[in-house]
Amino acid sequence: MSQIHTTDVTIIGAAPVGLFSVFELGMLGMRCHVVDVLDEPGGQCTALYPEKPIYDIPGFPEIAANELIDRLIEQISPFHPTFNLGQQVIAVNDRNGRWTASTSKEDDDRVDGNSHRRGRWRFRPQSTAA
Ligand SMILES: Cc1cc2nc3c(=O)[nH]c(=O)nc-3n(C[C@H](O)[C@H](O)[C@H](O)COP(=O)(O)OP(=O)(O)OC[C@H]3O[C@@H](n4cnc5c(N)ncnc54)[C@H](O)[C@@H]3O)c2cc1C
Repeated sequence: MSQIHTTDVTIIGAAPVGLFSVFELGMLGMRCHVVDVLDEPGGQCTALYPEKPIYDIPGFPEIAANELIDRLIEQISPFHPTFNLGQQVIAVNDRNGRWTASTSKEDDDRVDGNSHRRGRWRFRPQSTAA
């Protein structure tokens, strides 16, 4: 059974860019729905290098990647974004001016709203040639 969530903006990718977009859009009074194929927010920062120090974040001479994600989530909490994690957006369609993002979840969750894709790729395990 298809379930439809309606929102102002759908953000594809719960990574640094998508998370901070929730803040900027929240300041403009827009509600956000964040979808990510991974089971936790953070994108490359949490999936690939959570402990690595980052030196190029304004205001932080040094911050671990996972701490940056924790702080971004704390920063957007006043805007109460909805997270749909563990599901991949497989299609984005314009239905008479309403954008709909369909996900890979079994019940085919759909999220209506303006879709914004953040991040360039998703993570998928690959077998080695060995
Ligand atoms: C080892 C390493 C070290 C790095 N160190 C630094 C550093 O020190 N400083 C720095 O500035 N940058 C660094 N980077 C680069 C930095 O990680 C990226 O620039 C940053 O993560 C990009 O953030 P993003 O929000 O664009 O999305 P990403 O982190 O790329 O995440 C994209 C997200 O979108 C999700 N997604 C994509 N498509 C879909 C879909 N169809 N449906 C659902 N979800 C989807 C993915 O699952 C993922 O969570 C490093 C990268 C690596 C690999």
